[in-house]
Amino acid sequence: MNYDVIIIGSGPAGLFSAHELAGMGRTVALIDLKSNMNDIASRACSMQLILDDDYEGEGIVVENSTFRFPKSGFSVPYNSKLVPIFKKYYRSPNGNTISFGDGKKPFSYKFDKSELLHGIYEECLKMGVSVYMNHLCTAVKDLRTHVEVTICDFNDNHAKKTLRCNKLIDAEGVNASIAQKLGMNKHRKHLATALTYKCVVKGIKGIEKNSWNLFYGKAYHTNAPVIIGPSLLGDEYNEVTISSDKNYRPDKAFSDIISNSPISDCFKGSEVVEEHGCSVKAFTPMKNPCKGNVIVIGDAAAFVEVETQGALLCGYHAAKAVNAELNGEKGWNSYTAWWQKSFEFNGDDYLRVSQGYSLVPTYTDRDLDYLFSLVKDKCLIGTYSQYKTPKLIWKTIREHDEKIRRERPSIFEKICNLNQMSLASSFE
Ligand SMILES: Cc1cc2nc3c(=O)[nH]c(=O)nc-3n(C[C@H](O)[C@H](O)[C@H](O)COP(=O)(O)OP(=O)(O)OC[C@H]3O[C@@H](n4cnc5c(N)ncnc54)[C@H](O)[C@@H]3O)c2cc1C
Repeated sequence: MNYDVIIIGSGPAGLFSAHELAGMGRTVALIDLKSNMNDIASRACSMQLILDDDYEGEGIVVENSTFRFPKSGFSVPYNSKLVPIFKKYYRSPNGNTISFGDGKKPFSYKFDKSELLHGIYEECLKMGVSVYMNHLCTAVKDLRTHVEVTICDFNDNHAKKTLRCNKLIDAEGVNASIAQKLGMNKHRKHLATALTYKCVVKGIKGIEKNSWNLFYGKAYHTNAPVIIGPSLLGDEYNEVTISSDKNYRPDKAFSDIISNSPISDCFKGSEVVEEHGCSVKAFTPMKNPCKGNVIVIGDAAAFVEVETQGALLCGYHAAKAVNAELNGEKGWNSYTAWWQKSFEFNGDDYLRVSQGYSLVPTYTDRDLDYLFSLVKDKCLIGTYSQYKTPKLIWKTIREHDEKIRRERPSIFEKICNLNQMSLASSFE
């Protein structure tokens, strides 16, 4: 079969690029190894929209049953639940808390990713996109005149098929295996592979409604924080997210947290009603995501994640770029310029900033209790951004440099050496 465009991966990036290209009259094939949209949408994801101004160069607007992307100039219909998040708390083992948000204006909305993706998928079907669900893409050959894509059909005893296209969009998500086969990860460094466990729990006590809570410290068994936030199922339910690595699986960490940690009492009498898991390869970002007839978009080219809203943006801009290339214009150049300027992780200091999250194991539980105590009476502005948050925290802590140097010289030395920490250590 021949197509103008083949897209590997039907997450938000691939799906939205299919939608846009079909709308431009292109013939499109969309391939996903999962068997249906419910499976795709059930990937572990906290499903929060980030409302920070100018986030990912855009700043999403939620209005009139749509998510609007004002700078790029498009909207995606969304008619389902939204749970506002007004407060965010970072908690140290003894309960010292850094708080974000004035409690009046939401800085994030929890949304139903499944509903969002289903809406786009239905539109794709109406516009004639050829969908290959339950098909794994195993190989891609860019033969300059066209691209050959080998897929393995799980519906038909793993039978192999070959499809052809003029341009290929690789939207396979964070593990970037096809990109690896195409040699497009050559300039990227693999920093770590995290395992993430997410569950919905009924009846956790002591968690404020509409708040996001991150619990830091070895008392919680993992280096990454335990995250507890709201659930779409209602106020009685919360989502718990835990990340670690294969040497100490996050589901095991969850059992240890509920039986022995500063928050174990909150879980007494609670019940797990839903569980999800995934593995996440953290690579340094792909600076040049276009090569030959191939463009890599969404998480597949990112440092960890572009988030759902970023994936939709990638899909939108990739569709424009592919259409331009098919018309003999230089679409790759404009996509690359947009990609490099829009995502914070393409800047020079993203690793240093994101390491600001990696408080454990650099700081002991007592260090964290001390550092959090310095800022516990302040309320920082409401932000969800994984780059803005650590910048804000450290800026506020470092207003106390003199005091820290005097009272805790060993902590002060660690702060000064922050650059030497490796991101990988936060998952071990
Ligand atoms: C624990 C966790 C929490 C998160 N929380 C949030 C959040 O709160 N808000 C938010 O917006 N985002 C969140 N994210 C990130 C968000 O899920 C991703 O950024 C987003 O889904 C990326 O979209 P994508 O289309 O690039 O990739 P994906 O959504 O990963 O889609 C890739 C698709 O490609 C398919 N695929 C992969 N390889 C192949 C192959 N060889 N052949 C065929 N198909 C293939 C996969 O089955 C998958 O369906 C979170 C992620 C995790 C892990």
